[in-house]
Amino acid sequence: MNRRILHIEDNENNRYLVAFLLQANGWEVVAAPDGPAGLAAAAAVGPALILLDIQLPGMDGYAVARALKADRALAPIPVVALTSYAMAPDRAAALAAGCDGYIEKPIDPETFVATVEGHLRPAAGGVPA
Ligand code: MN
Repeated sequence: MNRRILHIEDNENNRYLVAFLLQANGWEVVAAPDGPAGLAAAAAVGPALILLDIQLPGMDGYAVARALKADRALAPIPVVALTSYAMAPDRAAALAAGCDGYIEKPIDPETFVATVEGHLRPAAGGVPA
């Protein structure tokens, strides 16, 4: 089974927390600090899932999601947006951009890994990731 997750995130503290939580549960985490690096990493490492910060410098998370879903090889990879709790419009916009789900920041260490793993399950009638 592919145990690799790509985290596209500009904030170093968030990258540290996400890597810590996922690695403690047997996941390998590849991090990218911006959208273009994230797209390159997605193609290079073939992650089981992509965690995508929305507020990125330059190319924002919506643009990254659209680029991922426009790429035939990358489109099947589940993309979970990391959105700010305070920004409800971000969530609808993330889904509209092609994200398969979202997790609100700040990250809750108690539930984060289970929530991420829940997004690996194929939706009813969907294609296994
Ligand atoms: Mn950010």
